[in-house]
Amino acid sequence: GATIGILGGGQLGRMLAVAASRLGLRTHIFEPAANPPAADVAHRVTTAPYEDAQALAAFAASVDVVTYEFENIPTSALDLIESLRPIRPNRRALAISQDRLLEKTFLNGEGLATAPWCSVEDAADLAIALERIGTPAILKTTRLGYDGKGQARIMAPEDAADALAAMAGQPAVLEAFIDFSREISVIAARGPGGEIAAYDPGENVHKSGILHTTTVPAHIPPSLRSDAVLIAARILNALGYVGVMGVELFVTPKGLIVNEIAPRVHNSGHWTQNACAVDQFEQHIRAVAGWPLGDGSRFADVEMLNLIGDDVDQVPSLARDSGTAIHLYGKAEARPGRKMGHVNRVKPLRANSARG
Ligand code: ATP
Ligand code: MG
Ligand code: MG
Repeated sequence: GATIGILGGGQLGRMLAVAASRLGLRTHIFEPAANPPAADVAHRVTTAPYEDAQALAAFAASVDVVTYEFENIPTSALDLIESLRPIRPNRRALAISQDRLLEKTFLNGEGLATAPWCSVEDAADLAIALERIGTPAILKTTRLGYDGKGQARIMAPEDAADALAAMAGQPAVLEAFIDFSREISVIAARGPGGEIAAYDPGENVHKSGILHTTTVPAHIPPSLRSDAVLIAARILNALGYVGVMGVELFVTPKGLIVNEIAPRVHNSGHWTQNACAVDQFEQHIRAVAGWPLGDGSRFADVEMLNLIGDDVDQVPSLARDSGTAIHLYGKAEARPGRKMGHVNRVKPLRANSARG
């Protein structure tokens, strides 16, 4: 069987490796940090920095195709890998999702709505941007932000200096604050032949900038559900994408606004593990390995609850509920803000239950 190379050995890499293993495929993880969550389940792990060209080349040579569990991989590493093996999803998807300016430019170019935005490099830019966009607004670093890090709210013009200081000299983008009614995301996959399989949109609630729960179905009308899936499909097709993508959307009275895209399996797609025949991890491995996509339809309503930091102490009591599927990442230390695991609370659909 084939070997899948995975850049990154966190919980997403771990769950990708489990899915690959179930398909009889081998995985080789490349991860700079020692003892990553994926090391328990992968067939092979290389522990080396992305600057180690020799280790990277050996890693690439040992696999058939390379995928990744996070988007902030150094360009030099990607160049080296791409000279040896295919990278799926492709470089363009990575480049766009690494940079909020490229991302918004791409999305708007596809006719998709984003929050009104302006590029900001210094105080003068920010003053002009605030005049155009107004307050409230959010200033975000263009690169390397996650879990709400690298962001500052600007409630009134006098917050501008503090917000700019929070960017620590990095290029940023000012976004209008969207007064959304709900946040949803679509997890969708595209295969090498161009076929698309999308999961039902999930409704996301964040706590301190970190995803807290995803509830499926989202509390939105059917028309918005299909709008969300069509937006995801448009993005996948425009990028000639292969693999699973997460698309984060805001629901507003004027329709859906794209917040950001993630060119990988996504935390808000973990519910698929217990509510779909083929979950997002298997779907991603299928696409990357050139298999046909699986069925993404849902056989249950479900709520995914993230276990962050000390939340993991609730596991013994959660384990007493027979309808709760538990997923732990094998991380030894429960630091604040650290994703330790998640649970899926599944409610079978009544229409599907066998009745006399
Ligand atoms: P992730 O961990 O999802 O990659 P991130 O650090 O890239 O997060 P965003 O997704 O851009 O950050 O923002 C985090 C959260 O902040 C959003 O899910 C949303 O709740 C809120 N938010 C971000 N941008 C806006 C906006 N323009 N208007 C209103 N709320 C916003
Ligand atoms: Mg993000
Ligand atoms: Mg986000």
